[in-house]
Amino acid sequence: MRIVLLGAPGAGKGTIAKRLSEYDGSVHISTGDILRNEVKNGTELGKRAKAYMEKGELVPDELILNMVETRLREKDCEKGFILDGFPRTIAQAEALENLLRKLGIGLDLVVNLDVPEDVIIERLTTRRTCSNPSCQEIYNVKFKPPSPDGRCLKCGWPVIQRDDEKEEVIRERLKVYHEKTSPLIDLYRKTGLLFDVRSPGSDEIVSKILEGLGKK
Ligand code: AMP
Repeated sequence: MRIVLLGAPGAGKGTIAKRLSEYDGSVHISTGDILRNEVKNGTELGKRAKAYMEKGELVPDELILNMVETRLREKDCEKGFILDGFPRTIAQAEALENLLRKLGIGLDLVVNLDVPEDVIIERLTTRRTCSNPSCQEIYNVKFKPPSPDGRCLKCGWPVIQRDDEKEEVIRERLKVYHEKTSPLIDLYRKTGLLFDVRSPGSDEIVSKILEGLGKK
């Protein structure tokens, strides 16, 4: 499958992308994960992206577009891909269209994960992450807490709140989403590719997407 997952931060794009990728081997491409990795490795791209990410702002398009083009040209993407966190602006959507045209391929579906804002804020502010770079297990202070002294149940490293999951940064990320990314919903609706999904559970969401793809 070749799909784009749209949705606010915290809508569950990462979880759904992972499930879809397990379904048929399509590659999960999360621009957020690629960037966090670049920051962790201290690369030139990581150094340039870091300040934007810490403030919850978008990394400039020219940095993102090169990165995505390189990734989509890799061999494994021939199996299909699930784009999570890209495109995030109208300019990125146009660049994606041009790139796919150059590659001679098209999108099957653009999924809009529609999650109420109060659910998103609750989900993001209660999320915690294992600080061990090679673990990064996700916790939730209410539904999946770490050990009583705040350690990862898998590897024992301290579990932390990611800088971009602090409340003020979350508010900025949501503002940026409404201003810059949500206009993509109408853009893709006009192309006939948009598929809205509003369900509480990930099993149901995955089945609906597969139905939408005509694979179920
Ligand atoms: P995410 O994990 O997708 O929420 O991304 C984390 C952060 O990475 C975002 O808040 C942005 O700063 C940056 N980022 C990820 N994807 C993009 C993108 N397509 N365009 C610009 N910035 C991005």
